[in-house]
Amino acid sequence: MQRYFILNEQINDHIIRMNKDDSFHIHKVMRMKKNDQIICVDEDEKVYLCEIVDDLHVRIIEVLSQNNELDVRVRLIYGLPKADKFEWVLQKCTELGVSEVVPFLSNRSLIKMDEQRFEKKRERLEKIIKEACEQSCRNRKVILHKPCKLKDLQQFEANHYLVAYEEEAKHKENYNFIKVLNQLKANDVINIIVGPEGGFDQEEINDLLERGYLACSLGKRILRSETAPIEMMSVIAFYRELI
Ligand code: SAH
Repeated sequence: MQRYFILNEQINDHIIRMNKDDSFHIHKVMRMKKNDQIICVDEDEKVYLCEIVDDLHVRIIEVLSQNNELDVRVRLIYGLPKADKFEWVLQKCTELGVSEVVPFLSNRSLIKMDEQRFEKKRERLEKIIKEACEQSCRNRKVILHKPCKLKDLQQFEANHYLVAYEEEAKHKENYNFIKVLNQLKANDVINIIVGPEGGFDQEEINDLLERGYLACSLGKRILRSETAPIEMMSVIAFYRELI
C-alpha cells in the first residue's frame, strides 16, 4: 500500500491534511479516489492506515503496529562520489535500511564540495530519501548529514566501527566484517566507512585505525565506490533479518 511520511502537525483529530506534493501523488500519479486507502507515518514512526476523504485530506482508520526497520542502526560514512552516483547510493542504501548517511571529503575525492553547495542540493537529496523510504515501507526517515572531513568523525559515536579498505582485499584472511557482525546486538549503532573512487591514502587509514576503526575486506574483487556500500548494507540486512 502506498505510504507517505507526514509531520505530526498535519494531524488534527483523526484527519491528516496532506501536503501539496503528496496530494498530487495520491490523486494524479496513483489516481486514487475517495475511500481508497493509504498508509501515513508520522515523525514518531507511528503508522496509520488511512482512507482518502477529499483532494487534500485523509482520515485515520487505525494505528498499525508495523516495524520494518533493521534492529540495528547503520551509519554510512561515504566518500562523496560524483553527483548522480551519490543519489543512487542514497536511494539504494535507504531501501536496504541505512539509518544515517554522512558524506565525507577525503584526500582522493574527485569532486569539490562545500557546505553551501551541498545545501543547495539538499532538497533534491531529501526528496530521493523520502520517496525511497515510502517505497520500501520504512518507519523512519534516513538522516542526511552535511559533508565533513575524516578528522571530524569523532562526533559520530557508535558501538562498532568498520572501514572498508581496498588494500585489505589483498589479504586472504581478513575476517573483521564477520567479526563485527557476530558482535552486533539489537539497538547497536554501527559506523561503516566506504572510500571515494580514488580510495584511501595510507595517512587516512592510519588515522582511522587510531580512532578505533577496524579495516575490513569486502572480498577479493575491488568494487566501485558505489557498489561497496550496497554490499555492506546487504550483508548487514541479511545477517540481521534472514538467518
Ligand atoms: N581506486 C581504488 C579502489 C577504490 S574503491 C583502487 O583501485 O584500489 C572505493 C572504496 O570502496 C574503497 O575505498 C573501499 O572503501 C571500498 N572497497 C571496494 N572494494 C573493496 C574490497 N574488496 N574490500 C574492501 N573495501 C573495498
